Amino acid sequence: MCIKQVPGVSEVKIDPNTNTLVREGVLSIINPNDRNAIELALMLKEKHKLEVIALSMGPPQAEEILREVLAMGVDKGVLLTDRAFAGADTLATSHTLSLAIKKILKESNSEEKYLIICGAQAIDGDTGQVPPELAEELGIPQITYVLNIELSEDKIVAERKFRATEIVIIETQLPALISVLNDINKPRYPSIAGIMKAYEKARLTYLDSNTLNADKSKIGLNGSMTEVRKIFIPKRRVNPIMLVGSNEEVVQKLCQHLKEDKIF
Ligand SMILES: Cc1cc2nc3c(=O)[nH]c(=O)nc-3n(C[C@H](O)[C@H](O)[C@H](O)COP(=O)(O)OP(=O)(O)OC[C@H]3O[C@@H](n4cnc5c(N)ncnc54)[C@H](O)[C@@H]3O)c2cc1C
Repeated sequence: MCIKQVPGVSEVKIDPNTNTLVREGVLSIINPNDRNAIELALMLKEKHKLEVIALSMGPPQAEEILREVLAMGVDKGVLLTDRAFAGADTLATSHTLSLAIKKILKESNSEEKYLIICGAQAIDGDTGQVPPELAEELGIPQITYVLNIELSEDKIVAERKFRATEIVIIETQLPALISVLNDINKPRYPSIAGIMKAYEKARLTYLDSNTLNADKSKIGLNGSMTEVRKIFIPKRRVNPIMLVGSNEEVVQKLCQHLKEDKIF
């Protein structure tokens, strides 16, 4: 399961010189969509007696989100942290995650049957590219935007959101990767006992570029094929109109404006 630490604010600040997020002084949280990935993994663990491993690439403080998921019931946390990973775009991020996954699988002899669960999108980068790229790196099938899943011995059957209103049912063999939408479930809260256990007993593993035997030209800024030229908040072009009155009056005025603006 892949989880990302993101800023816990609705409006992020951008450093105009470096075009990167200003993270100082900003509360960090688990990417909301990844909470659904965790909940799904824990539900599957309860039903099928699986081992659940959470993986995150980020700065050392991303350890906090791994502790939080250990408290929720995840078995192990793995943090990929190294200055050499910094500045990664989605390609370098998914390559690095794939190296760690291959290492974990090799060490646990579970290379044949595994399921990677990701959130569909992170609220900061918001590209939704990491899950498909990760599946490609691992050479396994992927089902994105999943709303429901049935796991059996060696295959999954998933309901996937398609366009706005349609659902497609897809079956694939394991190993596979899925990315989940936030409608799939309601994430649980950590229990007090879980929190105690996460801080006292559970172990986190830390992996850096050397442990992963990473090719330095494929990670971090060096491995990033894309470059952010400029990030800016678009200027508002029209002045907002306040509609006042009873509900009926406001609806009538709104319809009038929409007609005038040829929106309908
Ligand atoms: C062109 C470009 C340049 C960038 N340059 C920089 C930069 O210089 N410095 C910088 O800090 N960031 C940079 N970023 C942001 C960085 O690439 C993203 O934070 C990262 O690749 C994840 O992409 P995303 O946020 O769009 O995730 P999405 O693809 O939207 O995430 C979907 C899911 O993938 C998984 N996932 C994503 N990221 C991680 C992770 N790190 N660990 C574990 N699981 C994960 C999670 O399950 C998540 O829910 C750049 C992004 C782009 C597009």
